[in-house]
Amino acid sequence: MSVPMLEFRQVDLFYGAIQALHQVSLQVQVGETVSLIGANGAGKSSLLMSIFSQPQVTSGQILYQGRDITGLQAHQVATLGIAQVPEGRRIFPDMSVEENLLMGSLVIGDTYVDEDRQRMFELFPRLRERRNQRAMTLSGGEQQMLAIARALMSRPCLLLLDEPSLGLAPLVVKQIFHTLRELAADGMTLFLVEQNASHALRLSHRGYVMVNGRISLMGTGEELLTNPQVRMAYLGGH
Ligand code: ATP
Repeated sequence: MSVPMLEFRQVDLFYGAIQALHQVSLQVQVGETVSLIGANGAGKSSLLMSIFSQPQVTSGQILYQGRDITGLQAHQVATLGIAQVPEGRRIFPDMSVEENLLMGSLVIGDTYVDEDRQRMFELFPRLRERRNQRAMTLSGGEQQMLAIARALMSRPCLLLLDEPSLGLAPLVVKQIFHTLRELAADGMTLFLVEQNASHALRLSHRGYVMVNGRISLMGTGEELLTNPQVRMAYLGGH
């Protein structure tokens, strides 16, 4: 078996006396798309953010390409080739689309900026049309596209996405997932946290279900989509 792109080994995480993660173990293989689904407050965001030590895990290990990155600072993790699209997008509101993209490339310097910017405009033609527009004036869907494009500007090996569909209209969600599918087909490794289980699992090779800070189920996207428990709890029972 090859070395996983990302691995959690028996991770516990506490906020004071509250335990948010319990003995979490999971793997994301190179080139795989993996989703983590679960209800509000299950611990999904905590898990994702713990990769950047925000918050830091209490015990256990996080490995990236076989290297122990537990406790590394966010900027150190970014330079290793992990990029994230945070929940709520957190683009720079006063900067233009182009300036936001430039910020994304800072981690790797400016060698590929022009080439990568062109690629982002091909991936998201809407951003090309709005390249000089201030980010705060973009629609929610456009802001999500920008957040993804900005993350990709750092040429990551692993892209993390926290609730990419949150608050977006169904048609826009479809577009975003279509783009993620294209990225995956290009070989990008994706790990996403989603409440929109249906879209996430259809995109994913594998998925994990988190309940109260514990991994309760794992399987292929197909297996989880057809699992009665998952259907009842996360797919509206359809
Ligand atoms: P959501 O989809 O609502 O963001 P989630 O699955 O991402 O939910 P987390 O945000 O990771 O869940 O929260 C997991 C648990 O940890 C919750 O019980 C939450 O209240 C708690 N928690 C999260 N952040 C903090 C914090 N900074 N301080 C204390 N408790 C926290």
